[in-house]
Amino acid sequence: MSANVASNFVNGNVSFWVHQEGRPSQRPALPGPIEADVAIVGAGMTGLWTAYYLKKARPDLNVVVLEKEFAGFGASGRNGGWLSAKAPGQFRRYAKAGGVPAAVALEREMFSSVREAVDVAQAEGFGEHVVRDGLIHVATSEAQHSRLRSEIGKLPSHGWVEGEDFQYLTPADLDERVHVANAVGAYWSPHCARINPAEFTFGLARAVERLGVTIYEDTTVTSIEPRVAHTDRGDVRAQHIVQALEGYTLTLAGQRRRFLPMNSSMVVTEQLTDEQFASVGWNGAELMGDVAHNFAYIQRTADNRIALGGRGVPYNFGSSFNRDGRTADVAVEQLGARIVELFPGLRDVKLAHSWSGVLGVPRDWCAGVNYDPATGLADAGGYVGHGVTGTNLAGRTLRDLILGESTEITRLPWVGRAARNWEFEPLRWIAATALYAAYRFADQEEYRTGQDKTHISARVANLISGR
Ligand SMILES: Cc1cc2nc3c(=O)[nH]c(=O)nc-3n(C[C@H](O)[C@H](O)[C@H](O)COP(=O)(O)OP(=O)(O)OC[C@H]3O[C@@H](n4cnc5c(N)ncnc54)[C@H](O)[C@@H]3O)c2cc1C
Repeated sequence: MSANVASNFVNGNVSFWVHQEGRPSQRPALPGPIEADVAIVGAGMTGLWTAYYLKKARPDLNVVVLEKEFAGFGASGRNGGWLSAKAPGQFRRYAKAGGVPAAVALEREMFSSVREAVDVAQAEGFGEHVVRDGLIHVATSEAQHSRLRSEIGKLPSHGWVEGEDFQYLTPADLDERVHVANAVGAYWSPHCARINPAEFTFGLARAVERLGVTIYEDTTVTSIEPRVAHTDRGDVRAQHIVQALEGYTLTLAGQRRRFLPMNSSMVVTEQLTDEQFASVGWNGAELMGDVAHNFAYIQRTADNRIALGGRGVPYNFGSSFNRDGRTADVAVEQLGARIVELFPGLRDVKLAHSWSGVLGVPRDWCAGVNYDPATGLADAGGYVGHGVTGTNLAGRTLRDLILGESTEITRLPWVGRAARNWEFEPLRWIAATALYAAYRFADQEEYRTGQDKTHISARVANLISGR
């Protein structure tokens, strides 16, 4: 590998966050067949928030969580730590499904969900390092700047108030917050908090247990049907069964083509020296992303490293992925190079760790929350790359749906949404690979030509993918 990596560089091992936090001791597996009121499948943020809110509302309910590996093993313990208000799907699709006011309500509900998640983390003792300094989107080419301007132009019609929910930053304004090379313009929104994903998910799991929920680890659910989850250790019979598997949904019988498991990969540097830190000039805890088609998401960690993620190798034939998050050399190199492009003062910094995780991508790229009172089956997911805050809202929504309450959040347009299945292989692989090649080419051409228009190959790719 030609990337500049540290001598003790780690590739995989779930994630830097889990590695740094240290895995909590393994919880017991399901002892055999049991009965419960609610069985939740998957101990990521979706499953844990659902358990948390259900048990808070109805302490008498017997709620159990069934987890194949350990709580926080999936995307929830691997992500970029953007607790952001970005809705997990496209405004126009939600507006088409439920009308513009409902789509606006979803956007506004995402703002409150950021506050709600931070408040719970602080009240439950896992919010010590959570900082709500907002989110910066930065354009580093003229074409990105045009897209950024166009996005800002649409925000008021999506319910965002200029000055309150977002504000444009000139390169000079941006420079006061962080020094990004070749920045052409940016915007900042206050609706985002920085989290350490493993610290957050492990803390949430402990909070859920304190409420009296049992989390069974090392317990694989093989299929789900009304009132029963079949596992490798016996059946769990329950009135309500919540499926919260996101990128792992394909492991359940009959659900292989429901979500495409897309890889997202990250690298993190060693701790910055004072000189390197000064060259970056990032004193706040804002999260940051660029506006490239293969976009990069970045955080300055609480211990002064730069963690940057992106698509890397987005999809493997047959929906396969590496369990431990081992990342292809080419992706490590690309992500490391992007750090230096954005922050040239870090040209000598070494990478400490790389890892990958899987996102759940529905065919229409929009998340959904579903509950069928007739069968007691519920699920939430398909957040693509924006689920950290969405899982909180999904958890509260599933609570209301399961308890039979009609509330403002059960009327949001992502409730009762199902997309059609993905195509069979090899079509799925050809489409995903071709799309991301087109996006990569468009990014390169936009940098090379300096033109202010989105490159044609990305426009065609958007049309085909429906993104
Ligand atoms: C690298 C990366 C970076 C990301 N960055 C961000 C970000 O900065 N901001 C943001 O908003 N979103 C981000 N996301 C997306 C976000 O992390 C997810 O949307 C969110 O964590 C989904 O949570 P979940 O609980 O639905 O799924 P997961 O966290 O994936 O949980 C699913 C759980 O199910 C378990 N499981 C799997 N199969 C079975 C089975 N058969 N039986 C029982 N249990 C099973 C898994 O072990 C796992 O613990 C990122 C994702 C990745 C991978």
